Amino acid sequence: MGTWIEIRCENRTAATTDSDPGNRCWSHDNAGPMGEASDNRASLIQMVRGLEDEARETGWVKTRKGWFCPFCTSSPG
Ligand SMILES: [Zn+2]
Repeated sequence: MGTWIEIRCENRTAATTDSDPGNRCWSHDNAGPMGEASDNRASLIQMVRGLEDEARETGWVKTRKGWFCPFCTSSPG
């Protein structure tokens, strides 16, 4: 048994993000950084840090509201 962790875009519910695949919010295509950690605190923390590193490297931006995918970061609305 493990714990699934995934970074989801905070803008994923905006109407303008619900467009064609490849031209919409990454979270509509479940394309965010994700992975499965073991069920202990150390593994969970390590997994989150790894996913955040991966997110930054692939263009995700963390704001005070949370994470935003590369599409929503570069597209108005
Ligand atoms: Zn998005």
